[in-house]
Amino acid sequence: MSTTEKEIRDESSFRDRIATVDASGKRKWVFAQKPKGRFTNYRTYVSWFFFIVFIALPFIKYNGRPLFLFNIPEAKFIIFGKVFWPQDFFIFGLTMVAFVIFIVLFTAAFGRLFCGWICPQTIFMEMVFRKIEYAIEGDATEQKLLSKSAWNTNKIIKKSTKHLVFFLMSFLIANFFLSYIIGVDALWSIITGPVSEHLGGLASIMIFSAVFYAVYAFFREQACTVVCPYGRLQGVLLDRNSLIVAYDYKRGEPRGKVKEKESLHLGDCIDCFQCVKVCPTGIDIRNGTQLECVNCTACIDACDNIMDKVGRPRGLIRYASENGIENRETLKYTTRMKLYTALLLVLLVILTTLLVTRKDVDATIMRTPGMLYQERGNDSISNLYNIKVVNKTMADIPLTVRLERADGKVEIIGGGPVIVKQEGQGSGSFFIVLPRKAIFDRKTLIPLGLYEGEKKIAVLKTNFLGPVAP
Ligand code: SF4
Ligand code: SF4
Repeated sequence: MSTTEKEIRDESSFRDRIATVDASGKRKWVFAQKPKGRFTNYRTYVSWFFFIVFIALPFIKYNGRPLFLFNIPEAKFIIFGKVFWPQDFFIFGLTMVAFVIFIVLFTAAFGRLFCGWICPQTIFMEMVFRKIEYAIEGDATEQKLLSKSAWNTNKIIKKSTKHLVFFLMSFLIANFFLSYIIGVDALWSIITGPVSEHLGGLASIMIFSAVFYAVYAFFREQACTVVCPYGRLQGVLLDRNSLIVAYDYKRGEPRGKVKEKESLHLGDCIDCFQCVKVCPTGIDIRNGTQLECVNCTACIDACDNIMDKVGRPRGLIRYASENGIENRETLKYTTRMKLYTALLLVLLVILTTLLVTRKDVDATIMRTPGMLYQERGNDSISNLYNIKVVNKTMADIPLTVRLERADGKVEIIGGGPVIVKQEGQGSGSFFIVLPRKAIFDRKTLIPLGLYEGEKKIAVLKTNFLGPVAP
């Protein structure tokens, strides 16, 4: 029995602690063997597509805006070219709720397919950083030997080259990551402008680079097993009908060496530990579904290769559901999934309605706090108001406020219209003057029209305070 097999066999306490932590709580480094096979190939193609999208998206513009922007510092989000401000929080919140329900539904049906095929953490870890590591340090056995060896020239060169390349890759990813927050134009001005003018931007790039480097060089699979909330929720999201990477214990057990198969009437698993050796989270999938499994498919490929060699059908480890393995059932569209789908559809209808009816200009009019009303000579009363406007369009809007009734007027302080910059916010103050004879109550509800030139873009209602009638 090899040292690795013994280490794994001794680790029978997989239910007590995660595979990468020993009994004393110390981290056990995973030296995953390089996977080879059809799923690894498919995942490589998917990852190329992902990298192209990741790099290209910040450069794609629609109507002069980035297609996607998540400007958290300015609370401005652009999704599919549409700008969302804090005033659109309701739409944003609802989108998040719909997204969470989609994830729950998707997970109930397809398990952690997302983790293995789409999650940026897995894709960058397995398809970029792990491959760089294989190229510089060799496969798992060589990595292990290098790690155990004394610090000599070979080790110093390999380790420092690896960490240098890791940091450069992290730096590159950090730049693209930042472009999703501030946009490529702002990123370009940070890169090309004088350092003294972009200290904040440069500091952000270096902080992001350091975080990515720390995650991919040291933290690695711990991000999935210890930090990721999605991973930890699998216990409640999955059920016996969910698609998972599963070991077919009905076919594989009792496991045993090839030479004993005939005499002992063993199952198809030859107990070769190849599925464990390739696992980037260090688990043995034959113990059943575990929280560490990111559905990376490496064990499927490893086992398929072994099955080919021993002349048994592929798929001892495969995508299947618990019910599929135990009762040979096909995948089902369960009542739970139907309920989630109905809820998701309702939310999508509400969301679409909100998006379609969403206005390009949002305005809030409030009476100036602490002020009642002003007497204007003997025959008129005025109230002072503040207006705040958010312009979500790509053009400056010269905004005027008009009273939508004939017996009064609006006096904008400063005279001309309030100019609200494109994708910006504007504010101003104005008086509404009404004839005293038109006021019958302490509060009168009055309609105000917002105009861009002669075009009415919104009608708002506000209260006008007047003296109590004698
Ligand atoms: S790779 Fe397949 S045959 Fe080998 S131990 Fe794993 S399940 Fe058994
Ligand atoms: S058990 Fe298999 S699918 Fe799950 S993480 Fe390990 S190698 Fe990947």
